[in-house]
Amino acid sequence: MERGFPGRRRHLSASAAQTLTMQFSPINYTCPGCGAPLKFSPLTGTLRCEFCKREVPIEGEHAPIVEHDLHSALATLDHAPNQEITREITCPKCGGSFTLDPFAISANCPYCDTPAITEFVQEIHPESILPFQIAHKQAQEIFARWIGSLWFAPRELKHLVDTRKSLTGYYLPWWTYDADTVTDYAGQRGDIYYVTVQKRMIVNGEERLVEVQEPRIQWTPVSGQVARSFDDVTIRASQGVSRKILDALEPWDTSQLVPFDPKYLSGFDTEEYTIGLDNGFEMARVRMDGVIRSDIRLDIGGDQQQILNYHTRYHNTTYKNTLFPLWMTHFTYKGKEYYYAINGQSGRITGERPYSYTKIVLLILALLAVFFLAAFFDDIRETYGENFFHRSAPQAYPSAPPASTDVFRHTADCESRGGVWDYINDQCDR
Ligand SMILES: [Zn+2]
Ligand SMILES: [Zn+2]
Repeated sequence: MERGFPGRRRHLSASAAQTLTMQFSPINYTCPGCGAPLKFSPLTGTLRCEFCKREVPIEGEHAPIVEHDLHSALATLDHAPNQEITREITCPKCGGSFTLDPFAISANCPYCDTPAITEFVQEIHPESILPFQIAHKQAQEIFARWIGSLWFAPRELKHLVDTRKSLTGYYLPWWTYDADTVTDYAGQRGDIYYVTVQKRMIVNGEERLVEVQEPRIQWTPVSGQVARSFDDVTIRASQGVSRKILDALEPWDTSQLVPFDPKYLSGFDTEEYTIGLDNGFEMARVRMDGVIRSDIRLDIGGDQQQILNYHTRYHNTTYKNTLFPLWMTHFTYKGKEYYYAINGQSGRITGERPYSYTKIVLLILALLAVFFLAAFFDDIRETYGENFFHRSAPQAYPSAPPASTDVFRHTADCESRGGVWDYINDQCDR
């Protein structure tokens, strides 16, 4: 089941569902200069006051980020289904009360925008985090450039770019898995060889016997062993956002992970895992399996390979629970929701895009018009001869290019100047 986002951010009190409701006293950080709330700034990597611009460094512990043994964790974990806990919060700044969605652990107060950070309640807490490196403004620019590059995007999509604050910053949970694998396999190697066969063919109108080379495959049974170590196979641990979108944001550079500190969450929405450690490992195994199968094919060699059976043993299997940063937004067009996300570390963007059928139809009509016009002039040329054009309409054909080549030329010009051609407003966005 995939829940919607980011509309599910927080409900104002009174919408208590059939979940366990608990009171939480959120923490927040205040500016030592003016007392205003501090938020994490991706630009400086510090807590920063939006009012007096004071910066407070985050003194991260230099403790190494530890990988935990998977099998002992799976043996001791309570396998009870996730308890949905609704966190009721009273804002320490304005006193307003609101609730977070189940599994959300931080958000900004809907009344005064002060960050509210609560505790994790799932059994495993993240011990590391990839702090945001792309700031809100940069994310807006990436989003605007991407939308501008889309052909046939409806005008409404462009308006979404213009609304400030349309992107929300989220920290979502991920699992990472390491494993040393050893795989025994049995299969067949196919080697191509050629045989000379005689074939009846028609040559210069006569039937003859001709010698031709034909490929054959020689299959040889093979067996062997391949070994591979996997480091940080990243598996999404959130069910809130579609897998298609989260997988498209890869890769994540886990060498940049830092020890977890709640200060990094200040100003962002954060979620706990809803895909368990065991299910996450099943997904990781599917991903590792694809790599192992291509290792087996390489090991078999030859021109073609058949894998008959194989068995993988996993050693030193470890995991981490961690948080990755994303900017996300969504948009409704003709009754359907479209979601967009930006990797808050690399700036990679992905999304589902709507098409403006009006624009597509207009372009088809323009192309048809050009086609018929060309056919019409061809007709005249055939009827009246080439001289017709030189006498009466020397510039009419073929020097007027079809409308669409203009767009191509502008796009190329604009891109050569480092911009993105905005085909909606016919201008070059830099
Ligand atoms: Zn301040
Ligand atoms: Zn408040």
